[in-house]
Amino acid sequence: PRELDYPDRSLVDQLALTVERHGEQVALDFLGGETTYAELGEQVERVAEGLRRLGVGPGDPVALLMPNCPQHVVTFFAVLRLGAIVVEHNPLYTAEELRAPFRDHGARVAVVWDKIAPVVESLRGDAPLEHVVAVDLTTALPLLKRLALRLPVARARATRAELTAPAPGAIPYAELLAAPPLAADHPRPTADDVALVLYTSGTTGEPKGAELRHRNLMANCIQGRAWVAGLREGEETFLVALPLFHAYGITISLLFGVLLGARLVLLPKPDVDLVLDAVRRRVPSFVPAVPPLYRRIAEEAERRGVSLQGIRYALSGAMPLPADLVERWESATGGLLVEGYGLTETSPVVVGNPMSSARRPGAIGVPFPDVEVRVVDRNDPSRDVPLGEPGELLVRGPQVFSGYRGRPEETEAAFHDGWFRTGDVVTMSDGGFLTVVDRVKELIITGGFNVYPSEVEHALRSHPDVADVAVVGLARGTTGSEDVVAAVVATDGRTPDPAALEQHARHALTPYKVPRRFVVLDELPTNPMGKVLRREVQALLRERD
Ligand code: ATP
Repeated sequence: PRELDYPDRSLVDQLALTVERHGEQVALDFLGGETTYAELGEQVERVAEGLRRLGVGPGDPVALLMPNCPQHVVTFFAVLRLGAIVVEHNPLYTAEELRAPFRDHGARVAVVWDKIAPVVESLRGDAPLEHVVAVDLTTALPLLKRLALRLPVARARATRAELTAPAPGAIPYAELLAAPPLAADHPRPTADDVALVLYTSGTTGEPKGAELRHRNLMANCIQGRAWVAGLREGEETFLVALPLFHAYGITISLLFGVLLGARLVLLPKPDVDLVLDAVRRRVPSFVPAVPPLYRRIAEEAERRGVSLQGIRYALSGAMPLPADLVERWESATGGLLVEGYGLTETSPVVVGNPMSSARRPGAIGVPFPDVEVRVVDRNDPSRDVPLGEPGELLVRGPQVFSGYRGRPEETEAAFHDGWFRTGDVVTMSDGGFLTVVDRVKELIITGGFNVYPSEVEHALRSHPDVADVAVVGLARGTTGSEDVVAAVVATDGRTPDPAALEQHARHALTPYKVPRRFVVLDELPTNPMGKVLRREVQALLRERD
């Protein structure tokens, strides 16, 4: 029997329920402009009709490429209303990066931020794409223009002028919004339908689309509500700073907020100025984010004398949460900052620290309600490792996805006997708390020994000349063995000396773990959540060799 009740409800029916209960409540707050839940519900029906007229039907993928904005939320639910599937992409991606996924999902309609419409339009011919709908974000223009001009546009070969000109072949979003509402009896999706496809590289290989069903996403929201039990329906303000093209932002900011009838303060980018402006207008009660953003917010708020008091809950994920940051944040806000863990394939959260003083800094927490976990030998997943020993984390639960779109083989490889293989190495304490050691695929094998990069990084980070560091393995000829290599970003004004760094590493690590080489880089490549991408570091170092 399950610990929690999961209603047999699609996300569309959940929105309808929230509109019924909290219609007058502000749903979306975008740079001060407000949309109520009733208005959101109405716009969803209109845009759904507009999309239907473009030929979108049940099961059709529709690609969304937008910063966080009201149109993004409306389109998200409008696509779902039709029983169609939302496919989210990072709007800052280049045409080059988008080509393979667009071919893979085959969306015929894309709804995009107008500044990038030319990039998306350039995919026509390579993918089945037929209609590009352009969302004009004039209200936020000065800010978004700055953001647009920093896009990897050069790589997409669009000029400044092209970027700021209206997209020639695109349909204005306003036309969709001007459509009459969809017929009230138009079929609605069921909880079992696929709602969302998110591209992730998973544990191995090229990006593939993880299919998340309404049921999976609803389950994670219901689990979240039980977890952050102090949140009150219809009374909370959520800060939506995380991008709505990533599982964490979609579920924990948007869908969880809709479940609770919360005011969603949408920020077009996770920028500290925007966060502090939003906090000055109204203190949010719930701020899901990632460690680098919490740190910037805490530092800047202190520097500028902005009070963070009243932020009751903060939920950190995607990467380890440093203990000093927890202390700093909690004393600045008077609330809690706790760490959780998840993956795109699990909607995303599967493990979290208790939202109370029982939380354990350094650990990712305990399994969410109705989530079962095992820690197994990564070479033989049928064998559980002894308590306290590192092993691969396997999970099972109502929020776990059912497969990658159109990829039965990869799907099969992602599961062992019905358990999802997370690809993360963890340890479990006797109290049942889990700690992430590293990712299986980033493990370095050198001369027959296993090296966990995070351990080496940890040892190097304590050196005063090191601002940041990523440790990767580079193949040593054709021996099958790898060298441990450290890519170091120097502390401002310092020039790290490789011999000194090596000396420093030797104090903390057995010889085989000590990097053979140190390379100084200006910065480390990160994903939009701020997580360092070790595989890109590895590619960068390979190129240099
Ligand atoms: P890509 O999609 O490019 O492969 P990704 O593998 O990082 O990126 P995500 O699903 O976004 O895909 O991230 C999931 C991973 O993030 C987990 O497998 C884990 O390695 C890491 N992670 C999530 N939460 C934490 C945490 N609290 N501490 C450490 N690592 C975490």
